[in-house]
Formats: sequence, structure tokens, C-alpha cells
Amino acid sequence: MAGRVGEFDLIKTYFSPPAHHEGLRLGVGDDCALLAPSSGMQLAVTTDTMVSGVHFLPDDDPRGLGHKLVAVNLSDLAAMGAKPCWLFLNLTLPAVDEGWVAAFADGLFALAQAHGAVLAGGDTTRGPLAFGLTAMGELPPGAALRRTGARAGDWLCVSGVPGEAAAGLAHRLGQHRLPEGLAAQALARLHRPMPRVALGLALRGLATSAIDISDGLAQDLGHILAASGVGATVELARLPSSPVLAALPEAMAWRHQLAGGDDYELLFTLPPEAAGRLHELPEPVAVIGRIEAEPGLRLIAPDGAPFTLAHQGHDHFA
Ligand code: ADP
Ligand code: MG
Repeated sequence: MAGRVGEFDLIKTYFSPPAHHEGLRLGVGDDCALLAPSSGMQLAVTTDTMVSGVHFLPDDDPRGLGHKLVAVNLSDLAAMGAKPCWLFLNLTLPAVDEGWVAAFADGLFALAQAHGAVLAGGDTTRGPLAFGLTAMGELPPGAALRRTGARAGDWLCVSGVPGEAAAGLAHRLGQHRLPEGLAAQALARLHRPMPRVALGLALRGLATSAIDISDGLAQDLGHILAASGVGATVELARLPSSPVLAALPEAMAWRHQLAGGDDYELLFTLPPEAAGRLHELPEPVAVIGRIEAEPGLRLIAPDGAPFTLAHQGHDHFA
């Protein structure tokens, strides 16, 4: 590795936290970590990669990048109803910039600790800037929130305000301008998404299906509909709004809300008999539509007319 600091010093200095987790018997420093899942629990395992120039820009704030790397992975655990436990970091750096690494590690550990997850190992190599995280969580057998369980008659619900992150990205790319205070809020959504871990845990035994919105609400909803063999109607008037979205032309706000992506909100279905428990959930959620037997996604504009979306969301290879 280039620079004064070698690979092993780098790991020791920045990525060897005093790991306190009852299920971590051996952490960073040996050939493998040793994990002890709670008795009778299943492991939920997910991994996500972030590549410079694709998922972020090289001059992005490293603290935010560390945060977001953890957030996108914990969001997948949340969407499955799993409790976060262990993280494994794959870091590829063109050179060692200690200030950068320290800030990246700060952002990563702050969010991990907030959710009781511990860094248990990883790999460090030299190459074009990229990083991946593998996150492992626990859940009781049979408790996972799958994409397959949506049934006709279920309510379709979403957390947070999908579309704000996309508004932040469009602002950053100069596609539209937001007033300063609103731009800051939208950019915070883009760079510092908050994984809905507590909500995911609360939805165990309640939601019939769930997914986290990473590639756009319409596209990710499409995955639930296909996996469950159902369709849905979404009313645009019921999509959560905010000062950021209200500051944009309506058609642009709808596009961000439905196809923007990078939201890391939970989209889930609730049987009608569970609707009375919506207010018990740990995060505000909105009911945006209904699951129906007829396949396909029907979007209804506020005036009652059918609405067509030109582009449903993000696809790396499309
Ligand atoms: P090996 O050559 O046996 O694969 P490494 O030298 O790659 O081992 O890693 C040594 C130890 O440091 C291992 O415990 C590994 O999990 C950990 N490690 C390496 N890179 C990172 C990183 N970026 N973050 C956390 N742990 C890391
Ligand atoms: Mg080894």
C-alpha cells in the first residue's frame, strides 16, 4: 500500500474496535471471526457494494460514505425483520489517506453502534475506490418478512418520505435548484439515510410482505407484486409529501417519489385486520394503496385519472 501506513497498521488503527457483542467470540485480527448466534435463531445475511463514480462521487464526505455503507445494509436486514449483529467490510483504496479513512471509519462505527452491530472482520486491498459491507443479523425461524406474502385486500404502506433523496441528487446534479434549507434536508436524505431497523423488528408477525426501497418505489413494489403473484393500486395523493417535494413541480415530485430510489424506506403490506395497529409502530408510516388480485401496478393521479410512469426506477444494466 502507498503512503506511510501499511495495510496491517491501517486495519489495527481504524478497523479494530473493542468489539462488545455477546455473539462475537473472536473479532478482527485472526484468519476468521468466530460468531455465536443466539440459540435457535436464524441468520439473515446481506451484502452491498458501493463503487466510486457509480454509487458516490470520489470527493463525497467520507464520514457520510461510512454511514451510508452501513445504512444500506442495515436497511436490507430491516426489510427482512432481522436484528443487526455482525458486519464485514471490504475496502479497496487507491492510496492511504489517513484523514479520509478515519472519517470513513467514524461514520461507519457511529451508525453500526447505534444499532448494536459490531465490525467483525473484512479485507483491505489497493485498487479503484470501492467498498462493500456484509451484514449479518438474527431472527426467529419463520419470522422473516419475505416479498412473497402480499395478498389481495392488504394495505400497502411506506415509511418516511420516498423521493427526498432523489430530490437531493437532482439538486446536486443541477437538474433543479432547491432553496438552501430544503437542499440541505434533501442532501441529508441522500447522504445519511436512516435504516428503519426498529420498524422492521416491529413488523415481524404483522406485515405479510416487505422490501426496502433502494431502486425506486414503483420498481421495488414490482418485486413484491411479482413474488406474491398479485397487483396493486397506488394513489399518488397518498404518497407522503414534505417541504422539499412541495417545492418542486408536481410531475417532478411524483417522479422522485415513485422512481427516485436511494430512499431506504420500508415498503410493506398489512392485512386489513392489522390496520388498527399502525399507530403502534415505532416510525410514522403512510397507507398509499391496496393490494389487488389483478396483476400489475395501477397508479391513480389526485384527479382520479390513471397515471403512467415513464421510468420505474434504477437498473445498473438497463
Ligand atoms: P487474511 O490474509 O488471513 O485474509 P487479512 O490480513 O486480510 O487476513 O486480515 C487480517 C484481519 O483483519 C482479519 O481478521 C480480517 O477480518 C481483518 N480485516 C482486514 N481488513 C479489514 C477491514 N477493512 N475492516 C475490518 N477488518 C478487517
Ligand atoms: Mg489468513
